[in-house]
Amino acid sequence: MKLHEYQAKALFREAGIPCPQDKMVTTAKDAVATAESMGLPVVIKAQVHVGGRGKAGGVKVISNVADVAPTAETILGLTIKDLPVNKLMVTPAVNIEKEVYLSILLDRGARKVVFIGCADGGVEIEETAKTNPEAILRYEVAASELGNLDPSSLADFTSKLFSDANQAAATADIMVKMAKLFLDKDASLIEINPLITDDKGEVIALDAKMMIDDNALFRHPELEELRDMDSEDQDELDAHEEGLSFIRLDGNIGCMVNGAGLAMATMDTIKHFGGNPANFLDVGGSSDPKKVVAAFKLILKDPKVKSILINIFGGITRCDDIAKGILQSLEELDVPVPLVVRLVGTNEAEGQKLLEEIDLPTAKTLEEGATMASELGGAS
Ligand code: GDP
Ligand code: MN
Repeated sequence: MKLHEYQAKALFREAGIPCPQDKMVTTAKDAVATAESMGLPVVIKAQVHVGGRGKAGGVKVISNVADVAPTAETILGLTIKDLPVNKLMVTPAVNIEKEVYLSILLDRGARKVVFIGCADGGVEIEETAKTNPEAILRYEVAASELGNLDPSSLADFTSKLFSDANQAAATADIMVKMAKLFLDKDASLIEINPLITDDKGEVIALDAKMMIDDNALFRHPELEELRDMDSEDQDELDAHEEGLSFIRLDGNIGCMVNGAGLAMATMDTIKHFGGNPANFLDVGGSSDPKKVVAAFKLILKDPKVKSILINIFGGITRCDDIAKGILQSLEELDVPVPLVVRLVGTNEAEGQKLLEEIDLPTAKTLEEGATMASELGGAS
């Protein structure tokens, strides 16, 4: 789950990470009132779940109160990388001396939590990473140290961001707090770009991006409440409600699988045989036939889907319940594309027997199922 900047900054303040005050507003009128109470100049910033807002015209420094309303209207009218802007943040403008990049994230490849830094931060960071990769600094943190990082171990890293000793020390303090926040909130990313020094030499977080691990949200009901329904894929939300994990992809073979690992293996196997999966879908461990109906509905919403592969390895999930769900779906829904079913494991025979009545193509192995579904889906 992604947090908006104003939400992440509220967590920054709780954690003691310095950032300017701000207020979230949804109308130009409220933007004007907020700007007047904060005092000009202010910055108005689009609150959408993508980076690069500055380059897209979604971040504007305003010096005259007369410009607040029209600028707020303009930003509220923007669509940034397909996301309509519905929320704005108003914050006092800061005089920037220097912009650096700082983030902490889970590096799945290295199986480590790492800090990434770059002395040359700001809106061109992607370009810098490409043209000057040696400018990107890394500092790996042992999992056991996240909650109580020793600032002296960060001296080498921070001195490469700021040559001034006080600023380097302030950055180390921010990093200690970031690591603790990362741990406490089960984050997968906290990014500050830019982390700046202002005209008084203070180190301040001017932007904030934060992602929370969805699988840990049950531990953070207060964060779950921050979810912005406007910015989420409606199908993925519906799936969540039904107890399904669903992610839409751009292929044409619908997949219905039990277990996330098997779902990924199924997608890989489809690709291996020349097909292209239309989605990731894990119906989960239980085997309520209703979940199968909900899964069919989600898959069939996508007009690109040309065939559906149902791959069930029954354990806790019972094949006969899945078969019942398939029968119920075919009865209740218009299923205009061919199905291929592989049902093995718990109550396999009972499941197969139910399906015999309707003469569906069945596969004994995943390879066979993926090949059949790929051919039906029109793979070359
Ligand atoms: P992003 O483009 O989505 O990453 O949005 P940011 O919040 O990082 O803002 C983009 C750029 O706007 C920053 O890198 C700054 O250069 C500039 N900016 C943001 N806030 C201020 C501010 O208070 N004062 C000044 N002078 N520039 C700012
Ligand atoms: Mn930024």
